[in-house]
Amino acid sequence: MTPMKLLPLLLFGASAMAQPTYDLLLKGGHVIDPKNKISAPRDVAIAKGKIAEVAPDIPATRARKVVDVSSLHVTPGILDIHVHVFAGEGPAYTGQNSVFPDDHTFRSGVTTVVDAGSPGWRNLADFRRRIVERSRTRVLATLNIVGHGMAGAIEQDTTDMDPKATAEAALRNKDIIVGIKTAHYAAPDWIAVDRAVEAGELASMPVMVDFGTFTEKRPFQDLVLKKLRPGDMYTHMYLAWVPMLDENKKVLPYLFEARKRGVLFDVGHGGGSFVFRHAVPAIRQGFIPDSISTDLHITSMNAGMKDMLNVMSKFLNMGMSLDDVILRSTWNPARQVRREELGHLSVGAPADVSVLRLQSGDFGFVDVYGARLRGNRKLAAELTIRNGLVVWDLNGITRQDWDKLPANYSSQGDSAWDGTISGAVRARK
Ligand SMILES: [Zn+2]
Repeated sequence: MTPMKLLPLLLFGASAMAQPTYDLLLKGGHVIDPKNKISAPRDVAIAKGKIAEVAPDIPATRARKVVDVSSLHVTPGILDIHVHVFAGEGPAYTGQNSVFPDDHTFRSGVTTVVDAGSPGWRNLADFRRRIVERSRTRVLATLNIVGHGMAGAIEQDTTDMDPKATAEAALRNKDIIVGIKTAHYAAPDWIAVDRAVEAGELASMPVMVDFGTFTEKRPFQDLVLKKLRPGDMYTHMYLAWVPMLDENKKVLPYLFEARKRGVLFDVGHGGGSFVFRHAVPAIRQGFIPDSISTDLHITSMNAGMKDMLNVMSKFLNMGMSLDDVILRSTWNPARQVRREELGHLSVGAPADVSVLRLQSGDFGFVDVYGARLRGNRKLAAELTIRNGLVVWDLNGITRQDWDKLPANYSSQGDSAWDGTISGAVRARK
């Protein structure tokens, strides 16, 4: 072979060796990955939408894009298992009271939401077509025991609570349905809860209960001590009506008994379901949430709830450790909805990652009655990564300074890791 023919081969060989293995490398952050029991400085490498390596020092040369995340926390993408995202023109939470997921999620570090029973089996196809398929957020749902879903007055109609039709629809849509929901029921009988549990049995899925109207004829204690099965979830745990404290402000023992039975307690903050006068003493006495969630909808989003990181920050300022807050917003909720491929940073897992800044300062947090808790720590989402693509970058930490780019720079998008510079912008040279 002549030297002229050899040269391109040599060059090809050299460039193949220098070819980066990873699309994106988050360097120098403090990783909190509760499933894998990691809370330590680690680099996180991502390739082809999956977590590729987590190690103390991954060479920068191995990645196409390196982001300095020192002084930040790198966590699994946050799961919010109580939201209402069936936005559109339908009644109540099957439309007007719901919000579109992408408007709220990535900016607060959330990569997966579980809609808590907005659709029922009759409108699930519409929910899939208009919401699940059009969102960049991973959207799952618990299916309402009411066939028409969370659509207002119909939620009281027991003739539309069909366990068989609900379970069948749940099983046909197992890719997005992770449980059964009952909510807002006002009659003094157990029909809504019993039918939801029956559907849960038929579909082998957990049930989430919003107990609706509290009445003496069906005491809350019976819900968590008798009706719910291990693995079922009660949401709105710090709602004012939940019997929580005795006259000496001690947490009532039945709540610990219910937990011992395996009933899970979810926050579901919402516009009306979280009061500090329950949460603060309960947390001090160890009655803490299994999962932290928002109950995001049009009336909670601009009130005391605000967003997932604001709710998580409340728990930090009530005395929970950051590691514990992350556990209850990632791996715990993933397990509760039996999506164990989510909520952690194991090699091979979908690369859903949140990069959070723990800010210090004077902050205030408000409950649903308008009472304030002062605090000095608050989480903010610097970077959110969904399936390996950056979908939120608050301060442009993945970006180069404009005056260091060529004078006539054009779109900086790189589809290997960038999900924010749109295809349209990228194509417009
Ligand atoms: Zn709700």
